[in-house]
Amino acid sequence: MIHMGIGYDVHRLVEGRKLVLGGVPIPYERGLDGHSDADVLIHAICDALFGAMGEGDIGQFFPNTDPRWKDKPSSVFLHEAVRMIQLRGGRIINVDSTVIAEAPKLGPHVKRMKQVLSEALEVHPNRVAVKATTNELLGFIGRGEGIAAMAVASVDLPL
Ligand code: MG
Repeated sequence: MIHMGIGYDVHRLVEGRKLVLGGVPIPYERGLDGHSDADVLIHAICDALFGAMGEGDIGQFFPNTDPRWKDKPSSVFLHEAVRMIQLRGGRIINVDSTVIAEAPKLGPHVKRMKQVLSEALEVHPNRVAVKATTNELLGFIGRGEGIAAMAVASVDLPL
């Protein structure tokens, strides 16, 4: 049975933090604020995977009040979501995603993100899409106050 899931996340851009998107460090003068490494793309993908499993959001599995997840790479969360699918006898069919950021330019990093994410998701790179867009200078994203990400996942599950 094919199950779909959707995920959306936003993190604030602040000084003094490293920017990590899709598990890839990206050179920029600011980074995303959060309890973990605040990898907004991985968080959206995790929510899409949990959604496909009929589960709750990433915060239910990895609460931002839990010191275990403080400054942790979000790849830890992604591995856990993938492991949960595998434990249920499921298989990821594909993941599609979009990062919405006014800056920095993400185009040069998309290929690497796809590679890192497909390895973490244990699927062929053709089954993972990462797209980048700006917000045309509109709203909080347009003002460079934060970065958002959206993802959908399709997962084959026994029931
Ligand atoms: Mg998040």
